Amino acid sequence: MSWRRSDAHGDSMKRVVLVPGDGIGPEITDAARKAVDATGAEIEWQLVDAGAKTIEHYGRPLSPKFFPMARDAGVVLKGPVTTPVGTGFRSVNVTIRERLNLFANVRFARTIPGVKALHEGVDIILVRENTEGMYVGVERESTTGIVESIKLTSATASKRIVRFAFDMAESLGREKVTALHKANILKVGDGLFLRCAREVAEEYPQIKFNDLIVDNAAYQMVIRPQQFDVVVAQNLYGDIVSDLAAGLIGGLALMPGANFGEKVAVFEAAHGSAPDIAGQGVANPAGIMLSAAWMLTHMELVQEGEDLRNAIYKVLGDGKHLTPDMGGQGTTDGFADAVIAQLERA
Ligand code: NAD
Repeated sequence: MSWRRSDAHGDSMKRVVLVPGDGIGPEITDAARKAVDATGAEIEWQLVDAGAKTIEHYGRPLSPKFFPMARDAGVVLKGPVTTPVGTGFRSVNVTIRERLNLFANVRFARTIPGVKALHEGVDIILVRENTEGMYVGVERESTTGIVESIKLTSATASKRIVRFAFDMAESLGREKVTALHKANILKVGDGLFLRCAREVAEEYPQIKFNDLIVDNAAYQMVIRPQQFDVVVAQNLYGDIVSDLAAGLIGGLALMPGANFGEKVAVFEAAHGSAPDIAGQGVANPAGIMLSAAWMLTHMELVQEGEDLRNAIYKVLGDGKHLTPDMGGQGTTDGFADAVIAQLERA
C-alpha cells in the first residue's frame, strides 16, 4: 500500500489525469492546473469528463476512459462531482473509490497563519475508511415504509485502514492515533472495528493510541482540537468529523484531501460541487490547490509541492484576494493569479 508515490510510470514528464467534474469543479481545477504549471513541474494533463453533462455523452456520469487512464497514470487530480440526493445515479466519487480500491481517504485540518479560524494550532490528519461502512450503498425497502441500510464492517478493511493511519503517523513523525467508533451502541460492527484498531495499535508501541466514542470526539474536537493528531474512523463518522474539523480551521474550502489505493492516488478538495455558486467565478480554489501541492509531493516533486503550498498560505494569510466564503471580495481567477505571482516572486 502506498500513500507516498505511485510507481505507475517513471518518465520525466509526469502524467496526471485531470477530472474537472461539475458545479464549481471546472473553475477551481483550472486554477489549480495553472498554479501547478507555474511551479515549473512538467505535467502532461489528461482531461477526463465526469458529472451530469457526461451522461448526455456516454449515458453514464463518468467517461469510460477514466479507469484505464487513471490506472496508467497512477495520479488523478479531481474536481467535485454532484450526486443527486435520494434518487438518480450512484455517486461518481463512491464508484471511483470502489473500482480503484481507494480504501483510504485522508484530509488535513491545519490552521493557516493569518487566516481567521475558530482555533489556533490545529493540525489534524483525518484518515477514513473508504470502501465499506455505511457507504456500501446497500439499501432496501423491506416493507413499505421500512428501509434497511447495510453498514458493512470487516476485520480486513478495519485493520488495513488503522495500519495505514499508523504508517502515516510514523512516517510523518506524529505521536498519537485516535480511533473513533460507536461501539457502546453498535457492539458487534463497531465493536469489531475497535478490536481491530486495538490489535493493530499494539504493533506500533512507539505511537500513542486512544479511542473515543464519535459523539464525544465531535465535542472534544470543537472544545480542544489541539488534543488530536491522527484520527482514524469508518466512512460515515470520518466524513462528518472531517467537515467539522474544516469548520475549525476557517472553512471547507481550505481542506485538502486525497484517496489512496494500492496503485492509484486521487487528490481532491474536501468540499463538494457547491451548485449555489457555480459559474459565478467566486469559488475558493485553495482546497483543490492545496490538494495539488500535496499531489506534487506525492509524485516526488517535493520542492514544487512545498513552493506551491507556501504560495497558497502566503496569499491566504495576506487576505487581499480572499473569496466571499472567507469574507473577501476576490474571485477564483484573482486568487489563482495571486498564487502564481507569489510563486514567480519566490
Ligand atoms: P458543498 O461542499 O458543495 O457546499 C457546502 C457549502 O460550502 C455551500 O454553501 C458552498 O457554496 C460552500 N462551498 C463549498 N466549496 C466551496 C468553495 N470551494 N468555495 C466557496 N464556497 C464553497 O456541499 P453540498 O452542498 O452538500 O454538496 C453539493 C454537491 O457536491 C452534492 O451533490 C454532493 O453530493 C457533492 N459532493 C461531492 C464531493 C466530491 O466530489 N468529492 C464531495 C462532497 C459533496
